[in-house]
Amino acid sequence: MSLLAQRKNPSAPPRLDGKEVLVGPDPSVSRVKGVMFGARKQFLVDTVGEEGLGRVIARLSPRTAGYVKTPLASSWCEFESLVELDRAIYDELKAKHPNVLALIGAASAELGIGKVYKSLDSTELLKFLESIALFHTQYQKFGRVKFEKTPNGGRMIYTDYPCYSPIFCASALGFFLESILRHGGTDPSVNETRCQTHGDASCTFEMAWR
Ligand SMILES: [Zn+2]
Repeated sequence: MSLLAQRKNPSAPPRLDGKEVLVGPDPSVSRVKGVMFGARKQFLVDTVGEEGLGRVIARLSPRTAGYVKTPLASSWCEFESLVELDRAIYDELKAKHPNVLALIGAASAELGIGKVYKSLDSTELLKFLESIALFHTQYQKFGRVKFEKTPNGGRMIYTDYPCYSPIFCASALGFFLESILRHGGTDPSVNETRCQTHGDASCTFEMAWR
């Protein structure tokens, strides 16, 4: 279970009032790596069991259901399908877990980092966040990302998204929270201060930790 999910005060429920574009002008780039579907499947089995997984799958279109039943880690899948899956998970679990989208992102970070640092290791955390920016194109075919260090943490800036959704941004928030927690950060703060779903030029995540 992610550290975020174990916290007494989990992150606030997301704002989901932004605009959504599910397929960009060139559909072949509106894609994400299949491993993201595998991570969500694992999250569902761990959180609501096989039965809960079945309830979520029942809400999905055949294509998206296929990605969940048989996740192919290295294949490129439609961004639209990922948002469809996350929205179905949100609808199924929001009554019990209002911050479930953040928990989905946290579960991804948990898979990617594994180890939990006993005390804050800012150097390793910064290295990890830099690597996230560096390997962006291995997970998303669209957009660019830049990581900047700030006095109290860092800032991740995503730009040039041909497709976007507040559902996707909400899971990214949880990914960064979990990344900080696993590196020993206490009291992490992550805010998306700019968002492409609200017409801004970037999705900017301001992170602070201590
Ligand atoms: Zn955003």
